[in-house]
Amino acid sequence: MHKLLLRQLKRNQKDELFISKNDIFLNSISDAYAQNEQSVKMLERSLFLISNELNERNQTLNDQLAKMKLVQDKLEHSIGLLNATVNSTGEILFVYGLNGELLSFNTMGQDFFDDIGFKPVSHWEEFLSIIKDKQHMLSIIDRLQHDPFQYLTGTIELLDNRFFDYRSLPQIQEKQIYGRVWCFRDVTVQKQYEATIEYHAFHDALTGLPNRALLLDRISHSIATSKRENKKLAVLFLDLDDFKKINDTEGHDAGDLLLKEVVRRLQTRLREFDTLSRQGGDEFIIVLEKIESEMTVKQVCQDLLALIKQPFTIGSRQFIVTSSIGISLFPNDDDNANSLIRKADLAMYESKSLGKNSFHFYSQALEKEALTQLAVEQALRQAIEDQSLHLVYQPKVDLNTMKVVSVEALCRWTQHDGVVIPPDVFIPIAEQTGLIIDIGCLVISKACLQLAKWRDANIIELAISINLSCLEFQNEALITHLIDTLTHYKLEGKYLIIELTESIFMEDKFSVKDIMLRLNQYGITFALDDFGKGYSSFSYLQFLPLHYLKIDKAFLQDVESSSSSAAIAKTIIDIGHNLGLKVIAEGVEDQFMLDYVKAYKCDLAQGFYLHKPMLPEAIETLYLG
Ligand code: C2E
Ligand code: CA
Ligand code: CA
Repeated sequence: MHKLLLRQLKRNQKDELFISKNDIFLNSISDAYAQNEQSVKMLERSLFLISNELNERNQTLNDQLAKMKLVQDKLEHSIGLLNATVNSTGEILFVYGLNGELLSFNTMGQDFFDDIGFKPVSHWEEFLSIIKDKQHMLSIIDRLQHDPFQYLTGTIELLDNRFFDYRSLPQIQEKQIYGRVWCFRDVTVQKQYEATIEYHAFHDALTGLPNRALLLDRISHSIATSKRENKKLAVLFLDLDDFKKINDTEGHDAGDLLLKEVVRRLQTRLREFDTLSRQGGDEFIIVLEKIESEMTVKQVCQDLLALIKQPFTIGSRQFIVTSSIGISLFPNDDDNANSLIRKADLAMYESKSLGKNSFHFYSQALEKEALTQLAVEQALRQAIEDQSLHLVYQPKVDLNTMKVVSVEALCRWTQHDGVVIPPDVFIPIAEQTGLIIDIGCLVISKACLQLAKWRDANIIELAISINLSCLEFQNEALITHLIDTLTHYKLEGKYLIIELTESIFMEDKFSVKDIMLRLNQYGITFALDDFGKGYSSFSYLQFLPLHYLKIDKAFLQDVESSSSSAAIAKTIIDIGHNLGLKVIAEGVEDQFMLDYVKAYKCDLAQGFYLHKPMLPEAIETLYLG
């Protein structure tokens, strides 16, 4: 019997008897109870199963949701990164559809639109209105219409002078083209920088004139044009005379101002199609095109010389500067730029050597002369190597005692054939070629060796003076050689006198003084040679530690005939004495001159009338009587 039915029968106090009497009925109830209970269990079970399944499904859905969230987060992160990258490339990015409609752009793109006042919905053809070279852009559009898959690069310039490099590439997905990405980068600053570099490569920094590189190009073009038009062309090589003096005495700033003013003046005389260029320093090259005749060139040169000769005012001071010009002509002299310049340069040197402030045309004779110079240079180089240069000595006499107290060493070059070349010929060439330093060292060695021999013989006590040009005197190696040689022979410096000419006044006076003081420490003394011939600056006389003043022989040679020369000679002697210098008269050629220099109290005299330059053995004989 079902236990629920039993519990109910008990609660209603039904006994055994009642149960047995209603046995069948109660059993069917009990079965119904049992069946009901079974159904309930079944129902419960199925509910349990359904709930489980629902839970599982819920879980799966939750998992899928979480996964989708993760993917979405990642996607958002990637898009964020992509946008940040796209916005920070420094490039303007526009994406256009196939019909030219704007699809998207980055923040630089937005800035660009703001900048030019466009709405960010513009059709890309609107850009044509702000581009300088519209034709270039239209040709690009045309190319893209024919082949939309092209990858393009290039540079465009906007009407506001900005430059942009661009790259344009198709947007393709699964072989299907959707539009185009255009990237623009502002390269204006870079372009300006490149332009500046290019400008400096072809222009002189100080004056802004074309430099040699650009000049060569211009001459070559001018030659081509002149050939076509059957016209002449002139190349003028212009060099300022003594510009170095102003640079050294007034400083580089003053020199620069002067050069700029020179350029301004030259430009006033030149025509628009002529070229003025600076080669550096105080050298200018002018190209005159479309020349009718040589007369035209002469006229221009005369005018240019006159323009430069006008006084220059720099600060509160005035300067007079002259210039020398050399001219070469196309087609007469040559037909290429470099040769025309070289020939004009050669002609300019002719102007310099013939007294400056003038112009000269190139000629073949000049070329021959230059070739001779070259031959002399080569022979001189050989002579230095072969030791075929030697010294002769010219005595200097004390005018009080009439005794020889010192000698001047003078250089001689005896060639293989016995011909003696005078120093006036080879010293200038040696200076131009730098060989003068080797000659100086040779002279120093020979003179010091001579001094050592006389000292060691213990019978002759004579000082030797040597001539040093500005180039030699300012050469550190030569000065070192001098000190080393003196030390090597253990010589007393008081036996060595250095003769410098007035051209030393054109050098930096402080560095000249330094060298003099340095050598003076060894006892070496200094004479100023040929005084009166050049600048004759009395302030320099006072400034430099000098001991002797040699009056230029030209004054003495004229004293008999010219009263002004006599007056100058007398003034120089007085000034020298007032400055505490011993005065030497050189070039004494006769008794009259000797009497004259004695009367005017010169201290020493030198000249053919007294003694000619001679070999050392002759000096010894003379000294020992
Ligand atoms: P300088 O220094 O004025 O030398 C004096 C020149 O006058 C010498 O000519 C000498 O021979 C000449 N002379 C001497 N007495 C008389 C005279 O009574 N009348 C005339 N008319 N001339 C006289 P030299 O030897 O031909 O030298 C010429 C110049 O060459 C020298 O002029 C000097 O500037 C330069 N020189 C000579 N030797 C050297 C050297 O070793 N180094 C350098 N740097 N220059 C030198
Ligand atoms: Ca001399
Ligand atoms: Ca002299």
